[in-house]
Amino acid sequence: MDSTLRRTWAEIDMDALAHNYETLRKRIGENVKFLGVVKADAYGHGSVQVSRLLQESGADYLAVSSIDEAVELRHNGITMPVLILGHTPKEEVSELIKNNITQAVTCRAKALEYSEEAVKCGGTLKIHIKVDTGMSRLGYLCDGDYFESGVEGICEGCTLPGLDAEGIFTHFAVSDEFGEEYESYTKHQFELFTSVIDEVEKKLGKKFKIRHCANTGAVARYPETWLDMVRPGLLLYGYGDFAQELGLKPVMSLKTTVSTIKTYPAGTAISYGGIYKTDRKTRMGVVPYGYADGYFRCLSNRYELMTEEGPAPQRGKICMDMCMIDLTDKMNVDVGSEVEIFGKANPIEHMAQLAGTIPYELTCAVSKRVPRMYIKDGKVYEKELLLRG
Ligand SMILES: *Cc1c(COP(=O)(O)O)cnc(C)c1O
Repeated sequence: MDSTLRRTWAEIDMDALAHNYETLRKRIGENVKFLGVVKADAYGHGSVQVSRLLQESGADYLAVSSIDEAVELRHNGITMPVLILGHTPKEEVSELIKNNITQAVTCRAKALEYSEEAVKCGGTLKIHIKVDTGMSRLGYLCDGDYFESGVEGICEGCTLPGLDAEGIFTHFAVSDEFGEEYESYTKHQFELFTSVIDEVEKKLGKKFKIRHCANTGAVARYPETWLDMVRPGLLLYGYGDFAQELGLKPVMSLKTTVSTIKTYPAGTAISYGGIYKTDRKTRMGVVPYGYADGYFRCLSNRYELMTEEGPAPQRGKICMDMCMIDLTDKMNVDVGSEVEIFGKANPIEHMAQLAGTIPYELTCAVSKRVPRMYIKDGKVYEKELLLRG
Protein backbone atom coordinates (compact mmCIF):
# COMPACT_ATOMS: atom_id res chain seq x y z
CA MET A 1 0.00 0.00 0.00
CA ASP A 2 1.48 3.35 -0.93
CA SER A 3 1.56 6.35 1.36
CA THR A 4 -1.44 8.22 -0.05
CA LEU A 5 -3.62 5.21 0.59
CA ARG A 6 -2.96 5.42 4.28
CA ARG A 7 -5.15 8.47 4.21
CA THR A 8 -8.68 8.19 2.80
CA TRP A 9 -9.55 6.79 -0.63
CA ALA A 10 -12.57 5.72 -2.67
CA GLU A 11 -12.66 2.31 -4.31
CA ILE A 12 -14.73 2.31 -7.49
CA ASP A 13 -15.89 -1.22 -8.28
CA MET A 14 -16.10 -1.31 -12.08
CA ASP A 15 -17.43 -4.88 -12.00
CA ALA A 16 -20.38 -3.64 -9.97
CA LEU A 17 -20.89 -0.81 -12.45
CA ALA A 18 -20.80 -3.25 -15.39
CA HIS A 19 -23.24 -5.51 -13.55
CA ASN A 20 -25.60 -2.59 -12.93
CA TYR A 21 -25.46 -1.52 -16.57
CA GLU A 22 -26.12 -5.07 -17.83
CA THR A 23 -28.97 -5.58 -15.36
CA LEU A 24 -30.64 -2.32 -16.38
CA ARG A 25 -30.06 -3.05 -20.05
CA LYS A 26 -31.84 -6.40 -19.65
CA ARG A 27 -34.66 -4.70 -17.81
CA ILE A 28 -35.39 -2.13 -20.52
CA GLY A 29 -34.95 -4.53 -23.44
CA GLU A 30 -33.29 -4.08 -26.83
CA ASN A 31 -35.62 -1.46 -28.22
CA VAL A 32 -35.01 1.17 -25.59
CA LYS A 33 -31.81 3.20 -25.66
CA PHE A 34 -29.73 3.73 -22.51
CA LEU A 35 -28.43 7.14 -21.47
CA GLY A 36 -26.07 7.10 -18.49
CA VAL A 37 -26.12 10.27 -16.40
CA VAL A 38 -22.48 11.15 -15.60
CA LYS A 39 -22.87 14.76 -14.46
CA ALA A 40 -20.95 16.00 -11.41
CA ASP A 41 -18.01 13.69 -12.19
CA ALA A 42 -20.43 10.75 -12.42
CA TYR A 43 -21.88 11.50 -8.98
CA GLY A 44 -18.34 11.54 -7.61
CA HIS A 45 -17.28 8.22 -9.18
CA GLY A 46 -15.14 9.68 -11.99
CA SER A 47 -16.94 10.59 -15.22
CA VAL A 48 -14.13 9.61 -17.59
CA GLN A 49 -13.76 6.11 -16.18
CA VAL A 50 -17.51 5.53 -15.88
CA SER A 51 -18.09 6.84 -19.43
CA ARG A 52 -15.35 4.61 -20.83
CA LEU A 53 -17.03 1.57 -19.35
CA LEU A 54 -20.44 2.64 -20.67
CA GLN A 55 -19.00 3.31 -24.12
CA GLU A 56 -17.32 -0.10 -24.22
CA SER A 57 -20.50 -1.78 -22.96
CA GLY A 58 -22.62 -0.34 -25.75
CA ALA A 59 -24.61 2.36 -23.95
CA ASP A 60 -26.23 4.82 -26.34
CA TYR A 61 -25.88 8.25 -24.76
CA LEU A 62 -24.30 10.14 -21.86
CA ALA A 63 -25.58 13.24 -20.06
CA VAL A 64 -23.63 15.91 -18.20
CA SER A 65 -24.60 19.27 -16.79
CA SER A 66 -22.17 21.65 -18.49
CA ILE A 67 -19.92 22.13 -21.49
CA ASP A 68 -16.82 21.73 -19.30
CA GLU A 69 -17.99 18.29 -18.24
CA ALA A 70 -18.77 17.37 -21.86
CA VAL A 71 -15.44 18.57 -23.26
CA GLU A 72 -13.57 16.70 -20.52
CA LEU A 73 -15.13 13.50 -21.89
CA ARG A 74 -14.20 14.37 -25.49
CA HIS A 75 -10.60 15.08 -24.43
CA ASN A 76 -10.47 11.63 -22.89
CA GLY A 77 -11.51 9.57 -25.86
CA ILE A 78 -15.26 9.45 -25.33
CA THR A 79 -16.81 9.60 -28.82
CA MET A 80 -20.38 8.49 -28.08
CA PRO A 81 -23.24 11.04 -28.03
CA VAL A 82 -23.21 13.42 -25.05
CA LEU A 83 -26.15 15.60 -24.00
CA ILE A 84 -25.73 18.73 -21.88
CA LEU A 85 -28.74 18.98 -19.58
CA GLY A 86 -27.98 22.48 -18.29
CA HIS A 87 -27.28 25.89 -19.76
CA THR A 88 -24.48 26.66 -22.19
CA PRO A 89 -23.70 30.31 -23.01
CA LYS A 90 -24.29 31.14 -26.67
CA GLU A 91 -20.61 32.03 -27.13
CA GLU A 92 -19.85 28.31 -26.82
CA VAL A 93 -22.09 27.10 -29.65
CA SER A 94 -19.18 26.66 -32.10
CA GLU A 95 -17.35 24.63 -29.43
CA LEU A 96 -20.43 22.42 -29.04
CA ILE A 97 -20.63 21.84 -32.79
CA LYS A 98 -16.90 21.23 -33.11
CA ASN A 99 -17.05 18.59 -30.38
CA ASN A 100 -20.30 17.02 -31.59
CA ILE A 101 -22.06 17.70 -28.31
CA THR A 102 -25.87 17.76 -28.04
CA GLN A 103 -27.43 20.70 -26.19
CA ALA A 104 -30.71 20.87 -24.28
CA VAL A 105 -32.89 23.76 -25.43
CA THR A 106 -35.09 24.94 -22.62
CA CYS A 107 -36.91 28.04 -23.90
CA ARG A 108 -37.58 30.26 -26.89
CA ALA A 109 -34.83 32.80 -26.10
CA LYS A 110 -32.16 30.12 -26.07
CA ALA A 111 -33.45 28.45 -29.24
CA LEU A 112 -33.14 31.79 -31.04
CA GLU A 113 -29.65 32.48 -29.67
CA TYR A 114 -28.34 29.03 -30.45
CA SER A 115 -29.81 29.14 -33.96
CA GLU A 116 -28.22 32.50 -34.69
CA GLU A 117 -24.81 31.35 -33.45
CA ALA A 118 -24.97 28.04 -35.33
CA VAL A 119 -25.81 29.84 -38.58
CA LYS A 120 -22.97 32.31 -37.93
CA CYS A 121 -20.41 29.54 -37.69
CA GLY A 122 -21.93 27.62 -40.58
CA GLY A 123 -22.72 24.46 -38.63
CA THR A 124 -25.64 22.51 -37.22
CA LEU A 125 -26.18 22.16 -33.49
CA LYS A 126 -27.87 18.95 -32.38
CA ILE A 127 -30.48 19.73 -29.74
CA HIS A 128 -32.95 18.01 -27.44
CA ILE A 129 -36.01 20.07 -26.54
CA LYS A 130 -36.71 20.20 -22.80
CA VAL A 131 -40.35 20.31 -21.74
CA ASP A 132 -41.36 21.50 -18.26
CA THR A 133 -44.24 19.23 -17.29
CA GLY A 134 -44.14 19.86 -13.55
CA MET A 135 -40.54 19.86 -12.32
CA SER A 136 -40.68 23.68 -12.52
CA ARG A 137 -37.01 24.06 -13.28
CA LEU A 138 -35.92 24.13 -16.93
CA GLY A 139 -37.99 23.67 -20.07
CA TYR A 140 -40.79 25.07 -22.21
CA LEU A 141 -43.75 25.56 -19.89
CA CYS A 142 -46.61 23.46 -21.27
CA ASP A 143 -49.06 22.78 -18.44
CA GLY A 144 -52.65 24.10 -18.39
CA ASP A 145 -53.03 27.45 -20.11
CA TYR A 146 -49.47 27.24 -21.42
CA PHE A 147 -50.13 24.21 -23.61
CA GLU A 148 -50.64 26.04 -26.89
CA SER A 149 -47.89 28.60 -26.44
CA GLY A 150 -45.56 25.82 -25.30
CA VAL A 151 -46.29 23.69 -28.36
CA GLU A 152 -45.88 26.70 -30.62
CA GLY A 153 -42.51 27.59 -29.06
CA ILE A 154 -41.28 24.02 -29.42
CA CYS A 155 -42.38 23.87 -33.07
CA GLU A 156 -40.48 27.09 -33.71
CA GLY A 157 -37.36 25.70 -31.98
CA CYS A 158 -37.54 22.59 -34.15
CA THR A 159 -37.63 24.53 -37.41
CA LEU A 160 -35.03 27.25 -36.79
CA PRO A 161 -32.00 27.19 -39.11
CA GLY A 162 -28.81 25.70 -37.71
CA LEU A 163 -30.62 23.48 -35.19
CA ASP A 164 -31.31 19.76 -35.54
CA ALA A 165 -33.95 18.67 -33.02
CA GLU A 166 -32.97 15.05 -32.53
CA GLY A 167 -34.83 14.56 -29.27
CA ILE A 168 -37.36 15.82 -26.75
CA PHE A 169 -37.37 15.18 -23.01
CA THR A 170 -38.86 16.04 -19.65
CA HIS A 171 -37.90 15.39 -16.03
CA PHE A 172 -40.01 13.83 -13.27
CA ALA A 173 -40.17 15.57 -9.89
CA VAL A 174 -41.59 12.80 -7.68
CA SER A 175 -41.17 9.49 -9.54
CA ASP A 176 -39.27 8.09 -6.54
CA GLU A 177 -41.90 9.08 -3.96
CA PHE A 178 -44.59 6.70 -2.76
CA GLY A 179 -48.26 7.63 -2.35
CA GLU A 180 -51.25 8.18 -4.57
CA GLU A 181 -50.69 11.91 -4.80
CA TYR A 182 -47.15 11.45 -6.14
CA GLU A 183 -48.14 8.66 -8.47
CA SER A 184 -50.87 10.77 -10.05
CA TYR A 185 -48.47 13.74 -10.32
CA THR A 186 -46.02 11.56 -12.25
CA LYS A 187 -48.82 10.20 -14.42
CA HIS A 188 -49.93 13.75 -15.19
CA GLN A 189 -46.38 14.78 -16.10
CA PHE A 190 -46.10 11.81 -18.45
CA GLU A 191 -49.47 12.36 -20.10
CA LEU A 192 -48.72 16.03 -20.61
CA PHE A 193 -45.34 15.12 -22.11
CA THR A 194 -46.86 12.68 -24.62
CA SER A 195 -49.65 15.12 -25.57
CA VAL A 196 -47.07 17.83 -26.24
CA ILE A 197 -45.09 15.41 -28.41
CA ASP A 198 -48.23 14.30 -30.30
CA GLU A 199 -49.24 17.88 -30.98
CA VAL A 200 -45.76 19.01 -32.07
CA GLU A 201 -45.29 15.96 -34.31
CA LYS A 202 -48.70 16.51 -35.88
CA LYS A 203 -47.94 20.17 -36.57
CA LEU A 204 -44.47 19.52 -37.96
CA GLY A 205 -45.40 16.35 -39.82
CA LYS A 206 -42.34 14.52 -38.52
CA LYS A 207 -41.32 12.44 -35.53
CA PHE A 208 -38.65 12.98 -32.90
CA LYS A 209 -35.94 10.31 -33.04
CA ILE A 210 -35.45 10.15 -29.26
CA ARG A 211 -38.16 10.84 -26.68
CA HIS A 212 -36.99 10.36 -23.10
CA CYS A 213 -38.05 11.05 -19.53
CA ALA A 214 -37.35 8.06 -17.24
CA ASN A 215 -34.97 8.85 -14.38
CA THR A 216 -34.14 6.37 -11.60
CA GLY A 217 -37.64 6.31 -10.05
CA ALA A 218 -39.31 5.84 -13.42
CA VAL A 219 -36.88 3.16 -14.62
CA ALA A 220 -37.70 1.25 -11.44
CA ARG A 221 -41.46 1.84 -11.29
CA TYR A 222 -43.01 3.17 -14.51
CA PRO A 223 -42.11 1.03 -17.56
CA GLU A 224 -44.72 2.87 -19.64
CA THR A 225 -42.51 5.98 -19.46
CA TRP A 226 -39.41 4.42 -21.00
CA LEU A 227 -40.30 5.54 -24.58
CA ASP A 228 -37.17 5.58 -26.79
CA MET A 229 -34.54 6.02 -24.08
CA VAL A 230 -34.13 5.88 -20.29
CA ARG A 231 -31.97 8.28 -18.30
CA PRO A 232 -30.95 6.85 -14.91
CA GLY A 233 -28.16 8.13 -12.71
CA LEU A 234 -28.43 6.79 -9.18
CA LEU A 235 -29.49 3.28 -10.26
CA LEU A 236 -26.34 2.93 -12.32
CA TYR A 237 -24.25 3.58 -9.22
CA GLY A 238 -26.29 1.08 -7.24
CA TYR A 239 -27.68 3.06 -4.28
CA GLY A 240 -31.12 3.38 -2.74
CA ASP A 241 -34.07 1.03 -2.27
CA PHE A 242 -34.80 0.68 -5.99
CA ALA A 243 -31.24 -0.44 -6.66
CA GLN A 244 -31.52 -3.07 -3.95
CA GLU A 245 -34.85 -4.34 -5.30
CA LEU A 246 -33.39 -4.65 -8.79
CA GLY A 247 -30.30 -6.55 -7.55
CA LEU A 248 -27.88 -3.72 -8.34
CA LYS A 249 -24.61 -3.29 -6.45
CA PRO A 250 -23.10 -0.20 -4.80
CA VAL A 251 -20.13 1.01 -6.85
CA MET A 252 -18.23 3.22 -4.39
CA SER A 253 -16.62 2.16 -1.11
CA LEU A 254 -15.02 4.92 0.91
CA LYS A 255 -12.16 3.75 3.09
CA THR A 256 -9.56 5.06 5.49
CA THR A 257 -7.06 3.70 8.00
CA VAL A 258 -6.34 4.24 11.67
CA SER A 259 -3.38 6.62 11.95
CA THR A 260 -2.88 6.83 15.74
CA ILE A 261 -4.32 5.21 18.87
CA LYS A 262 -4.20 6.62 22.41
CA THR A 263 -5.83 5.54 25.65
CA TYR A 264 -7.54 8.15 27.83
CA PRO A 265 -8.95 7.93 31.36
CA ALA A 266 -12.68 8.34 31.97
CA GLY A 267 -13.80 11.99 31.84
CA THR A 268 -11.50 13.10 29.01
CA ALA A 269 -12.97 15.70 26.62
CA ILE A 270 -12.48 14.76 22.97
CA SER A 271 -11.92 17.24 20.08
CA TYR A 272 -13.11 20.85 19.55
CA GLY A 273 -15.75 22.07 21.92
CA GLY A 274 -15.43 19.02 24.13
CA ILE A 275 -18.93 17.81 23.25
CA TYR A 276 -17.97 14.25 24.06
CA LYS A 277 -16.33 13.07 27.31
CA THR A 278 -15.12 9.51 27.73
CA ASP A 279 -17.30 7.57 30.18
CA ARG A 280 -14.66 4.91 30.83
CA LYS A 281 -11.02 4.23 30.09
CA THR A 282 -11.12 4.60 26.32
CA ARG A 283 -8.86 3.43 23.52
CA MET A 284 -9.38 6.13 20.91
CA GLY A 285 -8.26 5.98 17.29
CA VAL A 286 -7.65 8.95 15.00
CA VAL A 287 -8.60 8.48 11.36
CA PRO A 288 -7.58 10.90 8.59
CA TYR A 289 -11.12 11.58 7.40
CA GLY A 290 -12.73 14.94 8.09
CA TYR A 291 -15.11 17.49 6.64
CA ALA A 292 -12.61 18.51 3.95
CA ASP A 293 -12.94 14.95 2.64
CA GLY A 294 -16.73 15.18 2.63
CA TYR A 295 -17.61 13.99 6.13
CA PHE A 296 -20.52 16.27 7.07
CA ARG A 297 -19.75 18.00 10.37
CA CYS A 298 -23.41 17.73 11.35
CA LEU A 299 -22.76 13.99 11.75
CA SER A 300 -20.32 14.67 14.63
CA ASN A 301 -20.68 12.15 17.44
CA ARG A 302 -23.46 10.30 15.58
CA TYR A 303 -22.11 7.90 12.97
CA GLU A 304 -20.15 4.66 13.21
CA LEU A 305 -17.27 3.66 10.96
CA MET A 306 -16.89 -0.05 10.19
CA THR A 307 -13.79 -1.90 11.38
CA GLU A 308 -12.98 -5.57 10.91
CA GLU A 309 -14.35 -6.05 14.44
CA GLY A 310 -17.59 -4.21 13.81
CA PRO A 311 -18.83 -0.64 14.05
CA ALA A 312 -16.71 1.91 15.91
CA PRO A 313 -18.61 5.01 17.12
CA GLN A 314 -17.17 8.34 16.00
CA ARG A 315 -16.59 10.58 19.04
CA GLY A 316 -16.53 14.37 19.40
CA LYS A 317 -16.62 17.05 16.71
CA ILE A 318 -15.47 16.09 13.23
CA CYS A 319 -12.38 18.17 12.32
CA MET A 320 -11.29 19.35 8.86
CA ASP A 321 -8.84 16.53 8.26
CA MET A 322 -9.53 13.97 10.99
CA CYS A 323 -11.97 12.49 13.40
CA MET A 324 -11.80 10.15 16.39
CA ILE A 325 -13.32 6.69 16.73
CA ASP A 326 -13.79 4.55 19.82
CA LEU A 327 -11.77 1.32 19.55
CA THR A 328 -12.01 0.26 23.20
CA ASP A 329 -13.44 -3.19 22.56
CA LYS A 330 -11.60 -3.74 19.31
CA MET A 331 -8.14 -4.83 20.32
CA ASN A 332 -7.34 -6.29 16.88
CA VAL A 333 -7.88 -2.93 15.23
CA ASP A 334 -4.48 -1.26 15.26
CA VAL A 335 -2.59 1.58 13.64
CA GLY A 336 -2.78 0.90 9.90
CA SER A 337 -6.02 -1.10 10.08
CA GLU A 338 -8.51 -0.42 7.33
CA VAL A 339 -11.82 1.23 8.20
CA GLU A 340 -14.85 1.43 5.90
CA ILE A 341 -16.72 4.72 5.99
CA PHE A 342 -19.43 3.51 3.64
CA GLY A 343 -19.55 0.64 1.20
CA LYS A 344 -20.41 -3.02 1.20
CA ALA A 345 -20.19 -3.52 4.97
CA ASN A 346 -21.60 -0.12 5.91
CA PRO A 347 -24.37 0.87 3.46
CA ILE A 348 -24.38 4.50 2.34
CA GLU A 349 -28.16 4.64 2.80
CA HIS A 350 -27.64 4.52 6.56
CA MET A 351 -25.23 7.45 6.55
CA ALA A 352 -27.56 9.39 4.25
CA GLN A 353 -30.49 8.83 6.57
CA LEU A 354 -28.52 9.98 9.60
CA ALA A 355 -27.37 13.11 7.77
CA GLY A 356 -30.93 13.85 6.64
CA THR A 357 -29.95 13.58 2.99
CA ILE A 358 -29.82 11.23 0.01
CA PRO A 359 -26.96 9.03 -1.22
CA TYR A 360 -26.47 11.37 -4.21
CA GLU A 361 -25.23 14.14 -1.92
CA LEU A 362 -22.81 11.86 -0.09
CA THR A 363 -21.01 10.48 -3.15
CA CYS A 364 -20.90 13.97 -4.71
CA ALA A 365 -19.43 15.31 -1.47
CA VAL A 366 -16.40 12.99 -1.51
CA SER A 367 -13.89 15.73 -2.19
CA LYS A 368 -11.16 16.12 -4.74
CA ARG A 369 -8.36 15.21 -2.37
CA VAL A 370 -9.81 11.72 -1.91
CA PRO A 371 -8.19 9.65 -4.66
CA ARG A 372 -10.39 7.26 -6.62
CA MET A 373 -9.02 3.77 -7.28
CA TYR A 374 -10.60 1.76 -10.08
CA ILE A 375 -11.01 -1.95 -9.48
CA LYS A 376 -11.73 -4.67 -12.02
CA ASP A 377 -11.62 -8.43 -11.34
CA GLY A 378 -10.65 -7.63 -7.76
CA LYS A 379 -7.53 -5.73 -8.88
CA VAL A 380 -6.69 -2.04 -9.00
CA TYR A 381 -6.16 -1.16 -12.67
CA GLU A 382 -6.11 2.61 -12.50
CA LYS A 383 -5.40 5.21 -9.86
CA GLU A 384 -5.83 8.90 -10.02
CA LEU A 385 -2.69 10.76 -11.00
CA LEU A 386 -2.25 12.39 -7.65
CA LEU A 387 -1.41 8.97 -6.22
CA ARG A 388 2.28 8.31 -6.02
CA GLY A 389 3.73 4.86 -6.64
C1 LIG B 1 -29.73 14.11 -12.68
C2 LIG B 1 -30.72 13.89 -13.74
C3 LIG B 1 -31.15 12.58 -14.07
C4 LIG B 1 -30.75 11.36 -13.29
O1 LIG B 1 -31.45 11.32 -12.08
P1 LIG B 1 -31.42 10.03 -11.13
O2 LIG B 1 -32.39 10.32 -10.08
O3 LIG B 1 -30.01 9.94 -10.60
O4 LIG B 1 -31.76 8.87 -11.99
C5 LIG B 1 -31.99 12.44 -15.17
N1 LIG B 1 -32.41 13.52 -15.87
C6 LIG B 1 -32.05 14.78 -15.55
C7 LIG B 1 -32.58 15.91 -16.36
C8 LIG B 1 -31.22 15.01 -14.47
O5 LIG B 1 -30.87 16.26 -14.16
